[in-house]
Amino acid sequence: MRKLSMDFQPHFMAGLCLRKKDKSHWDCTVRPSVVPLKRPACSICSFVAETDRRLIHADEVWSFPESTKVILTDVRPLCVYCHEAKDYADLLRRIMRGKARASMTSTVMEHYCGLNACSRDDFDEDVAAAFKMMNELERRYFYGIKGSPEVDYGRWDRPADTPQLTVAEKRQIKVAFADRDEPITVGLKSLKTYASAVRWLQSVTLKERSEIIAAIIQFVEEGLDDDEIIKERDEEIEFRA
Ligand SMILES: [Zn+2]
Repeated sequence: MRKLSMDFQPHFMAGLCLRKKDKSHWDCTVRPSVVPLKRPACSICSFVAETDRRLIHADEVWSFPESTKVILTDVRPLCVYCHEAKDYADLLRRIMRGKARASMTSTVMEHYCGLNACSRDDFDEDVAAAFKMMNELERRYFYGIKGSPEVDYGRWDRPADTPQLTVAEKRQIKVAFADRDEPITVGLKSLKTYASAVRWLQSVTLKERSEIIAAIIQFVEEGLDDDEIIKERDEEIEFRA
């Protein structure tokens, strides 16, 4: 049993992992609960990020119990090197696309071998075994072009009383922010972008959400009224002249 083991994510998980599926919940709730602001540490090699918190990632641990279901069993803090070793296949893919440095492979291998007290041959064997496991999962979970497994995000899922915004709600916010240079003020908050508004709205309860959306729309409409009044006044002045 390795201290740090490889666990390559199958391709069908690409759109299903929580980090991508629900970015605002991930950024506002999940990641902060796993990676503290001060001195976050890797749960495997104990590396502590003293200055740069980004060196510690929040890693999703998935289980694949049956061919129709996947379960998020844990989210744990991992340093960059442990994380790259865990999903070494992803690192290789990113190197091929020019998104990661090729020299990273030897750094990650040294980290893995040092931590597990194993040889480079052991590393290569572990890579081959992890690829085999990934291929096996992709075979077991293959449904053709359409379809994906049922996903259980467990206790990491977004709470039921703060669901993601609906398409209609997103459209309302998008319209409010369209062609806008000035922030929208709601209470003490100053919302500069559509994304910041969505993030906030998805972190409050449904009741607060509808009140905030109404306040956003009211703020924008009042602004429009002012513009109309100024325009009318200008036209009047022009008319008089
Ligand atoms: Zn580590």
